[in-house]
Amino acid sequence: MDFSDTPEDAAFRREVQEFVAKELPPDMRAPDEMTLGVGVGEDPRDMEWLKKLATRGWVAPSWPTEYGGAGLPAMQQFIFNEEMARARAPRPNYIAIGMVGPTTIVHGTEEQKSEHLPGILSGEIYWCQGFSEPESGSDLASLQTRAVEDGDDFIINGQKIWTSGAHRADRMIMLARTDSDGPKHKGLSYFFLDMHAPGVTVRPLTNMAEMHSFNEVFFDNVRVPKKDMLGELNRGWYVALTTLAFERSGIVNAVALQQLLGEIVEATRPYRRAGDVHARNELADRAIEVHVAIMLSHRVASVQAKGQMPIQEASITKLYCSELGQRIARTAVGLAGLYGQLGPGSPWAPLMGRIERTYLIQVGATLAGGTSEIQRNIIATRGLGLPRN
Ligand SMILES: Cc1cc2nc3c(=O)[nH]c(=O)nc-3n(C[C@H](O)[C@H](O)[C@H](O)COP(=O)(O)OP(=O)(O)OC[C@H]3O[C@@H](n4cnc5c(N)ncnc54)[C@H](O)[C@@H]3O)c2cc1C
Repeated sequence: MDFSDTPEDAAFRREVQEFVAKELPPDMRAPDEMTLGVGVGEDPRDMEWLKKLATRGWVAPSWPTEYGGAGLPAMQQFIFNEEMARARAPRPNYIAIGMVGPTTIVHGTEEQKSEHLPGILSGEIYWCQGFSEPESGSDLASLQTRAVEDGDDFIINGQKIWTSGAHRADRMIMLARTDSDGPKHKGLSYFFLDMHAPGVTVRPLTNMAEMHSFNEVFFDNVRVPKKDMLGELNRGWYVALTTLAFERSGIVNAVALQQLLGEIVEATRPYRRAGDVHARNELADRAIEVHVAIMLSHRVASVQAKGQMPIQEASITKLYCSELGQRIARTAVGLAGLYGQLGPGSPWAPLMGRIERTYLIQVGATLAGGTSEIQRNIIATRGLGLPRN
């Protein structure tokens, strides 16, 4: 199999590489595994970076040009993401660019598009995703947050949980129940909710790496104007399926894992005995697995390039990359011995504590965006045609 670029794609890759070399200062190239759930905006210079990307339509490479994107074909989107990941470039708010924008382009009215898309592209409006609830994660359609019609508004009451970036967000895409009769997925509607509206309370949740990236969000009689419903009443489930279908190829994660492994090989050298066969085998296995992850990401992109939806391919890649992240972290902690348990702030911590941090952060990777069990169910039923039960 020949994975090399076509002449046109190779020229595009060079264009991206030259752009990054010229426009992205070296001190803005940060490792990525520390920033799960966080996008640009933490560093004030990120907005400058967004403006530079915007000159080429590269804030949203996949969006059509008429909406301010670059309208890139699938393979060039893949190359763009790959090069940005290799350069460790700050990533725009993925929920806004990768989910809210494309869903609005498909389901939104012209008014909704002109109201929301410009703020996403400029990075001025930060978005979060309010789908999961305390009793509804994998079984999302069972969610219980309610929206009741009242004149020109809906009144929302209930709770979301695990909402990444809600503490920074101006807006939330959210699902609420507008009808309790009939099948559970037929009574949901999809809203753009103003996070600064009266009645919205955001309570931080600190993860086991002692980082604050997700939250609980409570709604107490929050008014959402009817113009902020996306799609039709009680048909929000189908809008949500569009949001969830905008899958990444996984190349960003695969490249981040490759970079991390390279750093671990160097950083654990002082702790390894010469000729340690166990260490050598472990690292070799992880290196092979990283290559498999990159191949799987290529496969997703090649399905997209044919204009098809990569359903089981995306699940296989998500499952594999998230479990591989945990294996790499475990290998690193094992090789660094007790030093691998030292976190940021300790002068003895290898990689400035990122080994310990990665070990803890990667636990959530097999839950976020659909758990490993749910991915296996999709692979079994959609990919292999096995029965649901
Ligand atoms: C880092 C992180 C960030 C997140 N960010 C967001 C966010 O921004 N917005 C948002 O809405 N949500 C977010 N989530 C929530 C995430 O989508 C849910 O955690 C996930 O969907 C699982 O739901 P749950 O936690 O309720 O677990 P449950 O669905 O209760 O699952 C519990 C266990 O049962 C298993 N299980 C459940 N159903 C089945 C089944 N049918 N077959 C086999 N096994 C099953 C699961 O795999 C899991 O092991 C985030 C989660 C994490 C970890």
